[in-house]
Amino acid sequence: MTQLFSGPGAAVISVFFALASCANSDASASDGAGSTSTDVTAVSASAAAAETAVVEQATSAVQQTRFSFSGEMTQGGWIRGVVPKGTVSASLGEETLQLAEDGSFFAAFDRDNAGSAKLTATLGDGKSVSETLTISSRQWNIERVNVARRKGGPSAAYMARRGPELDAIWDARQKKLPENGWQQDFIWPVKGRISGKFGSQRIYRGEPGSYHSGIDIAPGNGVPFVAPADGVVVLAVKNFSLEGNLLIIDHGMGLNSAFLHASKIAVSEGDRVRQGQYIGNIGSSGRATGPHLHWSLKWNNSRLDPLLFVGPM
Ligand SMILES: [Zn+2]
Repeated sequence: MTQLFSGPGAAVISVFFALASCANSDASASDGAGSTSTDVTAVSASAAAAETAVVEQATSAVQQTRFSFSGEMTQGGWIRGVVPKGTVSASLGEETLQLAEDGSFFAAFDRDNAGSAKLTATLGDGKSVSETLTISSRQWNIERVNVARRKGGPSAAYMARRGPELDAIWDARQKKLPENGWQQDFIWPVKGRISGKFGSQRIYRGEPGSYHSGIDIAPGNGVPFVAPADGVVVLAVKNFSLEGNLLIIDHGMGLNSAFLHASKIAVSEGDRVRQGQYIGNIGSSGRATGPHLHWSLKWNNSRLDPLLFVGPM
């Protein structure tokens, strides 16, 4: 089975909403509403499939007539699974799934994915198999403030700087390398106080600001952090206007991690990193109110909650 890549398409990224800075992390620092996620209890589909394979003395994941999968079927969550036998292409909603040779796949649900999501496989005989998933809603940490959202767009000088930065981030995330880190149980890049939760958002007199795109961990300035899973460094840059020193790791299947505000980046673009490998030090470069690691996860165009990958600290 060949690798399937979703087309790059036309990049339309809001200038105000790239990796999203931690500008509203002060809003999310207050641990008010229960936006904490559920425990990660699901056994990975690949692990389950591997056990079955041992029993049946097969060499790869066992494919059935239906999708098999498990994970976190909630907003910002994910699944790993295996497509039905005979699948030639598969999708989750509008997103084409990349498929491993044994038919295993990764898919995920955006923070604003409400209600349901549909997995569809097209088989070699032209038939299709589909399955509708129920995606549970989350209670986000929402703060309503009685001030107007900043008006007036960015200056021409800022735009001139920001455009190339956004292009570099987009290009890095479009590489979608055939890495295998997506199969692993992710680990915390560093442990410490959570100073900002994924999905937190401010509403300015009824007008929503952009939500917090990652999780902020604040164990102190200069503390080293590690790769949460295997992958390849697809971006390692200094002094981006919002992100500061920014590192992006491609975990394969369209899944990638971004690490913002580092004081030091210890790896270079093209480096292959292993889970647990030291990759940088925490700092406050870019737009940050204090030293912390902002870790965000994206699958194609969906923004995901890192907490649903690693579980409680
Ligand atoms: Zn942040």
